[in-house]
Amino acid sequence: MADTNLPASGPMQIPGHIDPLPVARAITPRADGRTDLIGLPRQDIAALFAQAGLDARAAKLRAKQVFHWLYHRGVTGFEAMTDIVRPMRPWLAERFVIGRPEVVEAQLSVDGTRKWLLRTADGHDFEMVFIPDADRGTLCVSSQVGCTLNCRFCHTGTMRLVRNLTPGEIVGQVMLARDSLGEWPKGANDTRLATMAGLDDDEDAGSYSADGRLLTNIVMMGMGEPLYNFDNVRDALKLVMDGDGLALSKRRITLSTSGVVPMMARCGEEIGVNLAVSLHAVTGDVRDEIVPINRKFGIGQLLQACADYPGASNARRITFEYVMLKDKNDSDEDARELVRLLRHYKLPAKVNLIPFNPWPGAPYECSTPERIRRFSDIVFEAGISAPVRTPRGRDIDAACGQLKTAAEKKSRAGRERLAAGDEAAPG
Ligand code: SAH
Ligand code: SF4
Repeated sequence: MADTNLPASGPMQIPGHIDPLPVARAITPRADGRTDLIGLPRQDIAALFAQAGLDARAAKLRAKQVFHWLYHRGVTGFEAMTDIVRPMRPWLAERFVIGRPEVVEAQLSVDGTRKWLLRTADGHDFEMVFIPDADRGTLCVSSQVGCTLNCRFCHTGTMRLVRNLTPGEIVGQVMLARDSLGEWPKGANDTRLATMAGLDDDEDAGSYSADGRLLTNIVMMGMGEPLYNFDNVRDALKLVMDGDGLALSKRRITLSTSGVVPMMARCGEEIGVNLAVSLHAVTGDVRDEIVPINRKFGIGQLLQACADYPGASNARRITFEYVMLKDKNDSDEDARELVRLLRHYKLPAKVNLIPFNPWPGAPYECSTPERIRRFSDIVFEAGISAPVRTPRGRDIDAACGQLKTAAEKKSRAGRERLAAGDEAAPG
């Protein structure tokens, strides 16, 4: 479990990092005095029920039932909770709500990718993307509104960090996607599919893979740096992985980090999901420029943390993401150095080559298709898988690094401070 020197909850502390605008983790009631239950684990739901007047035993029982309805069946009203005695349902509805992020806009790409513009209860916009493939469907989930870091090729990086998303807002994205896709286990939306697949409510986590569902995988690759919002991301993913919750296997969840080295071990220990690392460069100079967190945690430190990542093995490889930027990081020599580094640290690795997705005012261009192929071949020839990721949803600005909402610009002073390599402070 957790390193005992670290607080189990409360605002996350990163050595040398000023955690920007942390969200109060206390439960905040809505304006009408009711409390949103989404994002809370069983024991917190039980505590609220006890506070509202149930005795401890009843609170625990009702919390278990409500938890199942919320996260496993996806109901959005207490009336649907048929195993809860009838008079209790309005009692619950007077005190509690079952929230979802508000949908401001939903867009569909020509390639089937969907993007949703979502809004928090306090009026901040963020995005979520769903990418359907023949054999899987991947939901790309955001962890923050904006980002403190400012990777030079990333559109989100030009936003300031507005705030961390709460566990409810993070798990709420997955729940909303299931609502939209009509994919709750039987009883809610899709009795037919679940019955066809012989699914039963008590199936274990990970059972929803080969049953024709659209949403099979989750990647924490939307807006924000998930390891700078560790507690909330962990608490949300626990609900996603809970067998009586959304019941998605940890093997189908990938968290992508730009390289927040001090939080990587805890990610493996406390969440246990697959790791993706935004490497993007093989020399300190280039990585300092394009992924500025490198000035704090260099390539050597990062790759050592990858080598130590709990749970990584040849069966569960770490993904190294590498954005292809013309004349910046795409030479044969870069490819050979990448191979050398991965071998040196004995990493169970696969490399994901991402053609750079342009956005207005971006300071880079994408490498040519020939260059990308050559780079990929060099890595492949060394025995490391290096597929080129097909850009998806470019026409609706849903591709990697294109997410950005409203005019949440970093202040000039903020950008300059970051460029000077100081603390990742809010701009
Ligand atoms: N903040 C996390 C996760 C979100 S970004 C991280 O940086 O890892 C998801 C991936 O998209 C990262 O690998 C990121 O570097 C990459 N990316 C960002 N901007 C991009 C762009 N314009 N084109 C292609 N990939 C980009
Ligand atoms: Fe933030 Fe990731 Fe974009 Fe870098 S690539 S600015 S860490 S969202």
